[in-house]
Formats: sequence, C-alpha cells, structure tokens
Amino acid sequence: MLTKTKIYLSSPHMGGSEQKFVNEAFDTNWIAPLGPNVDGFEKDIQNYLGNNVHAAVLSSGTASIHIALQLLGVSRGDEVLCQSFTFSASANPIIYQGATPVFIDSESDTWNMCPELLEIAIRDRIEKHKKPKAIIAVHLYGMPYKAQEINEISKKYDIPVIEDSAEAFGSYYNDMPCGALSDIGILSFNGNKIITTSGGGALIVKNLELKEKAVFLSTQARDQAPHYEHSSVGFNYRMSNVLAGIGRGQMEVLDERVAARRHNFNFYKENLSKHTNLSFVDEPQGFFSNRWITCVKTSSYELREEIRLELLKDDIESRPLWKPMHMQPVFKDCLHFTNGTSEALFEKGLCLPSGSNLDQDDLERILNIISKIPNL
Ligand SMILES: *Cc1c(COP(=O)(O)O)cnc(C)c1O
Repeated sequence: MLTKTKIYLSSPHMGGSEQKFVNEAFDTNWIAPLGPNVDGFEKDIQNYLGNNVHAAVLSSGTASIHIALQLLGVSRGDEVLCQSFTFSASANPIIYQGATPVFIDSESDTWNMCPELLEIAIRDRIEKHKKPKAIIAVHLYGMPYKAQEINEISKKYDIPVIEDSAEAFGSYYNDMPCGALSDIGILSFNGNKIITTSGGGALIVKNLELKEKAVFLSTQARDQAPHYEHSSVGFNYRMSNVLAGIGRGQMEVLDERVAARRHNFNFYKENLSKHTNLSFVDEPQGFFSNRWITCVKTSSYELREEIRLELLKDDIESRPLWKPMHMQPVFKDCLHFTNGTSEALFEKGLCLPSGSNLDQDDLERILNIISKIPNL
C-alpha cells in the first residue's frame, strides 16, 4: 500500500554545509558556548542585517527578549506594551522580569500592532502615572509591522521598541531588514522558523557596549577577577558553538528559503483567492514579507475548521492563527486595548503548510483537498 507522508506546518530544512561547521566544532573541541562558529554566525547575521548592527547569538528568541528587557532597565512593577496578536514567547519575558504586560491589538493591513491604539494606550498609561518602559512589536508570520508609525510614537513619548523579528528574518521594510528597524531586535532560530539551529536566537543592538552587556548577562554575569565574582544576577543564555555551526550553514541558504516560502504563498493565493470565502493579506507598498507562514482568512469559524479537519484526515498539519494574548487564561487579568481585529483573525484564520521543503506534489496535494470543500 502506498502511504502518504505527513506534511508539517513548517519543518527544518538543512542547506548542506551545516554538518561541515558542526564537524569543525568537534574536530577542534569547541564544544562550548563560545568558539569560532559563535563568532562566525554573529558576523554572518551582521553582514545580512548591515548598517552597523551588533548581534549576540543566544539560546533562544525568548532568552533574547528577556535580555532585551534587561538592557532597557525593565524591572519589577514596570509596564510593557506588547502586541496581543503573537506567540506567548513575546510576552512571557515581561513576566520573568516581574513587570506587567499591557496588550495592544492589531490593524488590518499587516495584522500587527495598531499604531493608533498604541498611542491611545500610552496616553492612558501616562495619565495614570504608569508610563510604559518599552514597546514589544512583532512582525507576525513574517509581515513587517508599520515601523515608521510605531517608531514615531516611540520617539514622541521616548519609549524604546523591542522588535520581535522571530518570524521575520529575511523580511524588509522600505528596503531595511527586519531585526534592525528599531532600538533592539530579536531573532529566533527555533526548529520551525525560516532558518534554524534546532533552538537558538539572537539579540540585535546598535552599539558594541550593549552587545558586550548582553553577552555578560548571558554568560552568568562574571565580573573581572581570577575567581568567580558577581555583582549582578546572570543567566546561562549563550548559544552553543555546535549549534552556531548549524546557523552558519543555514545563513548560506536564507535567501533561498525566503524565495521558497514566498513561492508557497503565491501558489496558495493564485489557486485559492478565486474563492470568495477565502482571502490573503497583501504586502502594503514598501513591505516585503518572508512569508514564513501562509495564512488564509476564511469567512467563518466553521469553514476554517472544515479545512483544518479535512487536511488532518490526510495527515496534513495546519493550525488556527495565534490566539491573542489578551484572550489567554494566563494573561486574563492584564490590561488590554482592543478593536476586534485579532479576535476575528483567531476565529477565522488558518496557517497553511509553509515549509521551504514542500515540493510541487505536496502543494498540489494540499490544494486538491481544500478545493474539494463545498462553500468555499
Ligand atoms: C518563535 C517566536 C519567539 C520565541 O523564539 P524561541 O527561539 O522559540 O524562544 C518569540 N516571538 C515570536 C513571535 C515567535 O514566533
């Protein structure tokens, strides 16, 4: 019997030279959270992002957000504004710091943080003598947020932006690479992201002192001394030299991965947007999305579920869009500024299989199943 293989939402896709860099780590015994691959991977990221950024590779994107909050001095009792429509890892580090998230809904052009709501929230919090310490904005599914509007508000009120670019490595906003659009950026190299080190992340800063501080905090905050001396609390967040070797190999194919994911999006859009009950979000002028995940918006919860369950029957993974943070039980007591956008997306939206390793047969197999569903 012919058995079909499972199609994943987004699975790792090696390029070819990863193993070579990993072998070098073994051959030279750099099996540690430092070494030539760590330095090389950071250089590769800096070259990609350009304009004088400094990258510190860390154990995860989540760790990178946690360190970013510390670099900005976020501490107990502070408030941090965070995009509600995102993965929980954008918000969890706010809690690690003993601070409080305030959630901001999305606008419908990019599905990311709504600048108008952001400003309303800032004015409200300032009026109540709780001026927020930072803004966490997210380029969700690879689509850049409205960076100019968000950055203007950030300047106007003097509140720094942490740019959660975990899903948007390879995306651009007005020709500027995502990850380097604001005060501090973060990337993720988790197994499902556009490139992966199995697990990993990076913190992107604009000056060397900040990078050195990030590395200091991520390597247990050891002061200068022959013994172990500590004047601050540190973390064990640095990336392993073995995993950084995978990252160096993946950097060689990042642009190919972006092209493949954009191809997936175009295939779905060309073949499905003729159905009146399905729609896709276009790139506004000047926005370039890596199309990490292709998302389709349906006309109802029932249709969304029907598509998801039909795909599942054929061992094809799809997933509802992120459940907004202001709807999550764990954040139920948090203040939020909403407009209905993310709630509707969560109700009716579906992530389609989007791996860069999908071939034409896979795409046709998925399309065939969806096309057979009545009432599209
Ligand atoms: C994946 C992801 C993170 C966290 O990255 P990890 O490397 O998995 O810790 C943060 N924010 C968003 C939007 C993500 O998708």
